[in-house]
Amino acid sequence: MTRRDVLRLFGGGTAIALTGAFDRTLSARAPADDAPPAKLSPFSLQDVRLLEGPFLDAQKRDLAYLLSLQPDRMLHNFRVNAGLEPKAPVYGGWESEEPWVEIRCHGHTLGHYLSAASMMYASTGDERMKQRVDQIVGELQECQRASRGGLVCAFPDGAAQLGNAVAGRRFIGVPWYTMHKIFAGLRDAHLHAGSAPALDVLTKLADWTAAETAPMSDEQFQRMLDTEHGGMNEVLADVAALSRDPKYLALARRFCHEAVLAPLSESRDPLDGLHANTQIPKAVGFQRLFDATGEDRYGRAARFFWQTVVERRSFVTGGHGDNEHFFPPADFAAHLPSAKTMETCGTHNMLRLTRMLFMNAPSAAYADYYERALYNGIFASQDPASGMNTYFQATRPGYVRLYHTPEQSFWCCTGTGIENHAKYGDSIYFRTADALQVNLFIASAVTWREKGLTLRQTTAFPERANSRLDVRVERPVHAALNVRQPGWCPAMAVHVNGRRWGRAAADGHVSIEREWRSGDVVEIDLPMTLRVEPLPGTTDVVAFLYGPIVLAGRLGREGLTDGSQIIVNERQSGSMLNARPEIPVLVGDAASLARRTRQDPRDPLTFRTDHAGRPKDVELGPYYRLAHERYNLYWKIGPA
Ligand SMILES: [Zn+2]
Repeated sequence: MTRRDVLRLFGGGTAIALTGAFDRTLSARAPADDAPPAKLSPFSLQDVRLLEGPFLDAQKRDLAYLLSLQPDRMLHNFRVNAGLEPKAPVYGGWESEEPWVEIRCHGHTLGHYLSAASMMYASTGDERMKQRVDQIVGELQECQRASRGGLVCAFPDGAAQLGNAVAGRRFIGVPWYTMHKIFAGLRDAHLHAGSAPALDVLTKLADWTAAETAPMSDEQFQRMLDTEHGGMNEVLADVAALSRDPKYLALARRFCHEAVLAPLSESRDPLDGLHANTQIPKAVGFQRLFDATGEDRYGRAARFFWQTVVERRSFVTGGHGDNEHFFPPADFAAHLPSAKTMETCGTHNMLRLTRMLFMNAPSAAYADYYERALYNGIFASQDPASGMNTYFQATRPGYVRLYHTPEQSFWCCTGTGIENHAKYGDSIYFRTADALQVNLFIASAVTWREKGLTLRQTTAFPERANSRLDVRVERPVHAALNVRQPGWCPAMAVHVNGRRWGRAAADGHVSIEREWRSGDVVEIDLPMTLRVEPLPGTTDVVAFLYGPIVLAGRLGREGLTDGSQIIVNERQSGSMLNARPEIPVLVGDAASLARRTRQDPRDPLTFRTDHAGRPKDVELGPYYRLAHERYNLYWKIGPA
């Protein structure tokens, strides 16, 4: 711990990732720090409200699912391990049943739930969510008091596997991965739902971790980190900032896995064959440590990781990987027939990393990836009928999306899934001291308290290619309104009170600096164009995009019945609901394919190839809409 660490811990970058509803005191900057200033700050979820539209619908479905889950069932094994009588039977799936006992994810759902309920409370003000948060935190506090040493966990063998891990013995499953979810849930309960006891329980958990791992040599520690451990480095840096105690920052550093940190920080890519969602949270933690310490090694690793995953390893939707692993970028075509591509957790964590990088150094590339993966990976992951979420999103031609059951699955992607739809409000707007950035075109309202300014965004984007911002102020406010110009939209036009705003975009946004008065209106035209993008490593396999929206071929419902896509076991992806709908080949050259595709005059997001398909043409619609249909994402281009 250097003097610089202490400075950063108490100011500067720590505000970046942590500014939630109740931590405004952390926003004070350390004076005369030599760190580059934070470029963008987030708005609290409390200050953003979704308005009528598909994202609000998704949030409501998520809220209904969160309300249907019972805290006492998630708390079952926490109470057992603390020597207390459980109050309700344990849930199934990854929470208690074979064949998942060996992964030791028991209790991960409670952590995710605490995060999701806290964010949902901040996003909606729904008091029932606050009650759930307070109930769970209170129960965890009771368990912590009843158990020795500060550990709370739900593993069937208590602390045994964590004990094996720190003793350098062989251990079963991914106990630190699971503990990270509980740590993160407590952090979010504190940040987003204002729970003071959550910080107390969290700090004691961190103390337990520090004490248990203190005897370990660095070499032993690194060997332990060969096994998936979630974002322990990230959350311990958060504990350091929240508790203002630098000892947790030292522990966060110990949880950094040198086997990936070292090469990534030197712009070397070690990712071929590695488990994807094991690595992404490590990179999130590297960026978090860069924010906390200013040490460039962490920052370089996080930025290079993002670059190599987004630019070399991602499918058109922003998802990546096959059977949860990164594969060599030259091998995309070989993995296309897989039904286990694009694990949704991976996209969830890539968005967390992207958001942190974007706030630190706002660049158009980060914002464009965020938007693309949000629509085509995250928004697309929720079943609009049931509110359940995907695990894999298959690139296999003609396959379907599969969703978890309400009470028998509890996958990792169930956990990140319930968080996803509770926090759409976290990346629509950002701010600096004197500018408000409109980053996504999602119907919503934001309150900029410091300026007494409210912005209401009404839009049916992407169904309609425009958005409207209505300004309300307590008194006239001089500020800049920065409207992001997406990379897919070179022809974006902005009108202020009906008059064309002539200034060109710079740094990825159009900046409208003026004195704002109530009744001011900004209208944004976002003309979208149809284009194709090749599958990485190929020239004759392409996907269609319209603006940021991935279009997929609609291939019917053969073999599908109501509820058949709701499954218990994620491993069955690809071994069920198979059919062989005919996948047309598109003929001619890829460059002219977009011109040979016609837009439906009744639905601007529906297209049809025009004498380009063999043996027949194909109808294309937004991938995110094809929840209960067979689809195809990539098309082979054949000779005419
Ligand atoms: Zn997952």
